[in-house]
Amino acid sequence: MAVWAGAAGLPARAQEAADAVVPEAATETGQQAISGMSAAAQEAKAAGVPVTAQDWMVAVANPYAAEAGARVLAAGGTAADAMVAVQAVLGLVEPQSSGLGGGAFLLWHDGESGETTTLDGREKAPLSAGPTLFLDQDGQPLKFFDAVVGGRSVGVPGTPALMQTAHARWGRSDWAGLFSDAIRLAEEGFIVSPRLAMLVAADAERLGRDPVARSYFLPDGHPVAEGQLLRNPEYAATLRTIAGQGARQVYVGRIAKAIVEKVQGAEGNPGRLSELDMSLYDVIERAPVCVPYRGHEVCGMGPPSSGGLTVGQILGLLSDFDLAEMGPESAEAWRLIGDASRLAFADRGRYMADSDFVPVPVKGLVEADYMARRAALLRRDTALSEVEPGEPEFDHALNWADDDAIELPSTSHISIVDSYGNALSMTTTIENAFGSRLMVAGFLLNNELTDFSFRSHRDGVPVANRVEPGKRPRSSMAPTIVLKDGEPALVVGSPGGSRIIGYVAKTIVAHIDWGMDVQQAVTLPHLVNRFGTYDVEEGSAAAALGEPLKALGFNVETRALNSGLHAIALGEDGLTGGADPRREGIAIGE
Ligand code: GLU
Repeated sequence: MAVWAGAAGLPARAQEAADAVVPEAATETGQQAISGMSAAAQEAKAAGVPVTAQDWMVAVANPYAAEAGARVLAAGGTAADAMVAVQAVLGLVEPQSSGLGGGAFLLWHDGESGETTTLDGREKAPLSAGPTLFLDQDGQPLKFFDAVVGGRSVGVPGTPALMQTAHARWGRSDWAGLFSDAIRLAEEGFIVSPRLAMLVAADAERLGRDPVARSYFLPDGHPVAEGQLLRNPEYAATLRTIAGQGARQVYVGRIAKAIVEKVQGAEGNPGRLSELDMSLYDVIERAPVCVPYRGHEVCGMGPPSSGGLTVGQILGLLSDFDLAEMGPESAEAWRLIGDASRLAFADRGRYMADSDFVPVPVKGLVEADYMARRAALLRRDTALSEVEPGEPEFDHALNWADDDAIELPSTSHISIVDSYGNALSMTTTIENAFGSRLMVAGFLLNNELTDFSFRSHRDGVPVANRVEPGKRPRSSMAPTIVLKDGEPALVVGSPGGSRIIGYVAKTIVAHIDWGMDVQQAVTLPHLVNRFGTYDVEEGSAAAALGEPLKALGFNVETRALNSGLHAIALGEDGLTGGADPRREGIAIGE
């Protein structure tokens, strides 16, 4: 097992190679100790041991944000309060991943009522958007970055409204006070992290197209550097407005107008977002998707995310197989995980989209008999040669064509447990690293609309995840809360585009089946198979499985796998937290 304990610290050359191809690449562990609090957390992370605590814990992608959340929790705030403080800081110090210009999904387990629910703060397409949004004059799909950079890809942001809704529902702390850390850091400056500096430098050409983004990220034409103090007074002013007058201020009035002008005025690639679109934005409460797994309930985000259903299907298909007996070094275990994932992804591509717009067989896809039928396909000795979507029970004809959305990884995951027994799991994004590259009022605007399928039809058959006015693009974000006897046992989630699903499923299997603590489970090398190619994490012990998997019939590719898992386990001994060695996050608890 020891060999499996460390994917951390990819060799520098491997990282360099990865940086060139992935928008948000991995970074090594251990930087930016802001105070004693995060220094201790970073020591634990570097040593590969989980952080332990009794009362509360926060595990997020950046030490400044973790500390802001920890201060709120230590002062008696709830997980919802802490999330507001964390998100406000992340929007400053990790602007490439999430912020006020983006969207998010939040799972909440309520300590008092024992209920689990979700908030959908996903971006929405403008009312004027239609099936040709991402097609060129010849009806062909645009190239990914031609669609992304500029106004065309920008959906109505959901994150500000989500912060407000979560606070109104579950907060105890004074709203305005939750922004004080972020405002102070924006005004006085924060130290640019290695990761932010590396990503700005790698994206300089695209970031430089918007004059506002250029002057912030590339002052005097040079990318902001690691270790540099960076101030964002415009962001501070926006946060002061939100703190004083509420998040609605992003949706109506001066800030909304500025967003709309920016999108519509984007040179070369304008969008159609309007003030009406902004003012109509709504956060939607939805039931979680919960699937039983080895005596637990794995609860996740339903449509418009594919996260909960696809993670649920993978685990559901694996339920019949004794992974614990096989262990994490067994090619047979990974054959099953990889092909369960391919089967689930086939259903995802065919059936999953915004269920407010297209009928989605949510129950049928994770119904026990259906999953058992799909799992029967795995009873063989070698990799599946062909993978087709299944036919889940549904009272509606399901004649959809397969989707072709491209998702490249950025995004951030927030896991929080508070001293009242509440658990929060939220994945938050502006989609691609630096989103649309348009900056306004101190934050970047998302490019979430490129999560729609660029093609609306295939051979005359509509795609479920096609662009429609007011629709939310299908997501892969998989904020998850695993329950045991109705109580939270694991809070987990990750960025990583559609590989999020594999990262989260792996972490759950590692923790539940293979008995790993959360830090080991997060660190465990990744092997992800979505569409046929088995991605094996570069520079990790998983490489040893490459040949055995090939022998089973898989195509194998070795590559950097850029997760950002943050997990908190809850057990009889209290809380244990793990932060992904592939990014800069930490867990802090007390
Ligand atoms: N936009 C993606 C989604 O909603 C997330 C991108 C990422 O994780 O990097 O699924």
